[in-house]
Amino acid sequence: SVTRRRRTFSGRCTTRDGRPVPLLANVGAPGDAAAAAQAGAEGVGLFRTEFCFLDRTEAPRRSEQVASYREVFAAFPDRKVVVRTLDAGADKPLPFLGVPDEPNPALGVRGLRVATYAPEILDEQLAAIAEAAAAERAEVWVMAPMVSTAAEADTFVDRCGRYGLTSAGVMIEVPSAAILSRHLLRTATFASIGTNDLTQYAMAADRMLPQLASLGTAWQPAVLALVAQTCQGAAPRGRPVGVCGEAAADPALAAVLVGLGVSSLSMSASALADVEAVLARVDHDDCVRLAQQALDSDGADQARQVVRRNLPALSELG
Ligand code: PEP
Ligand code: MG
Repeated sequence: SVTRRRRTFSGRCTTRDGRPVPLLANVGAPGDAAAAAQAGAEGVGLFRTEFCFLDRTEAPRRSEQVASYREVFAAFPDRKVVVRTLDAGADKPLPFLGVPDEPNPALGVRGLRVATYAPEILDEQLAAIAEAAAAERAEVWVMAPMVSTAAEADTFVDRCGRYGLTSAGVMIEVPSAAILSRHLLRTATFASIGTNDLTQYAMAADRMLPQLASLGTAWQPAVLALVAQTCQGAAPRGRPVGVCGEAAADPALAAVLVGLGVSSLSMSASALADVEAVLARVDHDDCVRLAQQALDSDGADQARQVVRRNLPALSELG
């Protein structure tokens, strides 16, 4: 019988030619953080804070938020931790918000849009993040979900600044934000692409419907083109662009994302080792070539096939 040695992540990912591509962890509850650090994650690229707010009749107290955030920051001293502000609405309704029922929740008051209804929730959360950041050594970045316009980005960055949070960025998960990333990144200091929602909105394919899975994949050349456009808009300002959607955890797609100009990848801790195994065996130029082949493909299946065929490192993954 064949026993396969469990691959582990080295804790510092580079391409074969030595270009660092930090691999970060997605964290959905404070308890995940220690395990992510244990797995060698170079930081946290997406700390989802919904856990603090869901299934409650009123907003959590600030002290409770501070304690939860500190737990995650404490697991990553001197490392980057990107905290995403509350992404409620749509499939994650919050009773205490009082947002009316919506016919199309995915296109409704969700993510940063909730802050228009209930600005005190965002203020309270930013205050809690700032307090937790001051008490721990992590390098804390903050970002907003579901940003659609430069004006929204500006408002968010301004709000963060009032709490001394100067690394304030935007998630790119609405096509309008990808197309005009250069506008959003005038004030936002970084971008993180949420490929799950970006795919859903670009392809008009509900991410919850398995029967639309072949449409709703980030291998779709149109989605990859939006990733490329996001990076092109960010480059002149030197703003870093990461990916924190599921796409980052697919080793072949990770190589494509790097080739499109993405500088860090955030994923569930269990994916770190396989993504590193592929990136460590390709040069950055290879990634650029693969990305172009994927962009030139007629569809998701063709893109996946052409990249996999030209990525020999994949076969070693087993
Ligand atoms: C995304 O949309 O890709 C993302 C990372 O956010 P979520 O999955 O929490 O919507
Ligand atoms: Mg999202």
